[in-house]
Amino acid sequence: MIIDCDANATYVPDEEIQRVVSAALGLSGNPSSLHRRGQRARAALEESRASLREFLGVGPKDEIVFTSGATEANNTVLASHAARFPKGRIVSTLIEHPCVLEPLKRLKASGYDVVLVPPKSDGSVSVERIVEGVSRLNTLVSIMAANNETGVINPVTEIVRAVKNISSDIMVHTDAAQLLGKSLVSWSDLRVDLMTISGHKFGAPSGVGAIVIRDGVTLEPMILGGPQEMKLRGGTENVSGIAALGAVASLLKGGLATRIGTMRGARDSFEALVQERIEGCSINCADQPRLPNTTSLCIPGVRADDLVVALDLEGILVSSGAACSSGKPEPSHVLLAMGQDEKRVKSTIRISFRSDIDQPSVTRVVDVLAQVVGRMNRSA
Ligand code: PLP
Repeated sequence: MIIDCDANATYVPDEEIQRVVSAALGLSGNPSSLHRRGQRARAALEESRASLREFLGVGPKDEIVFTSGATEANNTVLASHAARFPKGRIVSTLIEHPCVLEPLKRLKASGYDVVLVPPKSDGSVSVERIVEGVSRLNTLVSIMAANNETGVINPVTEIVRAVKNISSDIMVHTDAAQLLGKSLVSWSDLRVDLMTISGHKFGAPSGVGAIVIRDGVTLEPMILGGPQEMKLRGGTENVSGIAALGAVASLLKGGLATRIGTMRGARDSFEALVQERIEGCSINCADQPRLPNTTSLCIPGVRADDLVVALDLEGILVSSGAACSSGKPEPSHVLLAMGQDEKRVKSTIRISFRSDIDQPSVTRVVDVLAQVVGRMNRSA
């Protein structure tokens, strides 16, 4: 039996969602076609948009634009700001996902004004430091709602309030890829101008996501060549993926609080047990508001990559929290930005539970982890 403790990497769709995808694949229509097959696909698309709108609390005048995922959505938001305001500024943080950091690196290299705020050593982001980085004119603040490695939830609503006090023209974007399905906080609470989401992080298949755009905010399309998505994202839509996204949204609407409770219970139990059983281990950012399913666990002396492989052999899927670029594992930029030393960072794994995790599975994960660590030479 496999125990999936890597839900932040991707949340494998439930059977019900898999059925929605198969059924939508059967539609096989192009939503731009005028005939009945096309119109069936168009209806599926709009039904999904409506369901997502309701789930996220998106107002009738705000817009939802489907994309291929959060990477495309984040790239679009950043590039759109730079295109609209060549003399503008983007303020972000050093702990963003690479799909924010890499486009910002490119913009900076081309001379664009980019400010990257470091996190505090506890993994949190200071509202004051963000505000300090803001210049009155044409600034976009881009801050992730929750960090994928540590699970720390950022004070997005406070940041919106603080920067809008300076000027209502300052735009705020949040990458909410990790927040959905793990928090009751949503678009209507966050008060941001732009929000990006990713389907496969909360139960839809990969290859679908969206940008939510507040009424009155202008977005420049980055993918040209088609009138789809209000001309904001060209290309024939991923109908089955979008249908699944809508189905997940309606599925979660009712049971979200229960799912969050299950994840939090499992996570808390895991953290208590693991600290009892494994000497010297510690939990990053434990005193911060965090996603209910995520633990960033440091086991000094153990090489995280070896641990990931050893656990996989036992049927337990975790992640080392390290981004893999060109096959070479890199130490987590998030933990390094928090000021942790490389040795500690390379001894850290990420456990991220699904909402169907149960206590026997948690106990097994701790048992196996303790056994495997006990067998390892803790001298790394
Ligand atoms: N943003 C965050 C915080 C993520 O964790 C991820 C994926 O790990 C992404 C963006 C990218 O999402 P997608 O796979 O939908 O492109």
